[in-house]
Amino acid sequence: NDMKADIKLSKRLKMVASFISEGTFFADIGSDHAYLPCYICLKDEKARAIAGEVREGPYHRAEETVAAYQLSDKVEVRLGDGLQIINSDEGVKELVVAGMGGGLISQIIESGKEKLTTIDRLVLQPNNSAHNVRKLLLNLGYSLTHEKILEDNNHIYEILVADKINNEPFLWNNVEVEKQLLFGPYLMEEKSPVFLKKWKIEREKLMKVIHQMKNAKHIDYEKLAYYETQLKWMEEILT
Ligand code: SAM
Repeated sequence: NDMKADIKLSKRLKMVASFISEGTFFADIGSDHAYLPCYICLKDEKARAIAGEVREGPYHRAEETVAAYQLSDKVEVRLGDGLQIINSDEGVKELVVAGMGGGLISQIIESGKEKLTTIDRLVLQPNNSAHNVRKLLLNLGYSLTHEKILEDNNHIYEILVADKINNEPFLWNNVEVEKQLLFGPYLMEEKSPVFLKKWKIEREKLMKVIHQMKNAKHIDYEKLAYYETQLKWMEEILT
């Protein structure tokens, strides 16, 4: 019997996993090895999961992990694009989309939004453009309830958790909403050392971009003004 007792997850995926409710039925879209659903289902007796993959290679890797941990009665691997692999009548309660760009995550959710009817919680981990994802959540009527920022393997990651609840927590400030979308309403309140580190790096990058734009032959003044506003916000948040 070569069943392994436990799966070693990255710090990032462990944090993602910590937001999945106990004993729930969830889908992990873009699951790759299916480590996350297998990790959760090994620890949580009642949890059940669907691991979705759009590519053959990762789909087979996911199948192998499920077999290796003897989880085939708990984790089902499905091949397909985004939320298409979810059936509206099977009662999936929570959704994970992690380890992709914020643009792709937003596109996956936006284009599958008819599948969200049974889904109470979204746990999203965009590798970049988290502001895209926050904006989408706002438009879809999910309330952002938790945000985390962490450093793992020399990368800084953000995790966004949104719940389908009627009472939006006091969160979005009319005057500051664009700023909150960029930095994250909770994260900018908390201002953790990792958050400050991230925005120092982003400020440096943006300063270079602005410098290059100003030296270009044709200057896109609208874009430049937008970037300069963002830079000003970064300066504010860092002081
Ligand atoms: N979620 C895992 C994690 O956070 O470590 C794996 C992230 S991996 C970088 C991204 C995975 O998403 C790849 O395996 C890719 O094939 C899959 N993917 C990309 N677009 C997808 C889509 N539209 N539907 C399902 N899976 C997708």
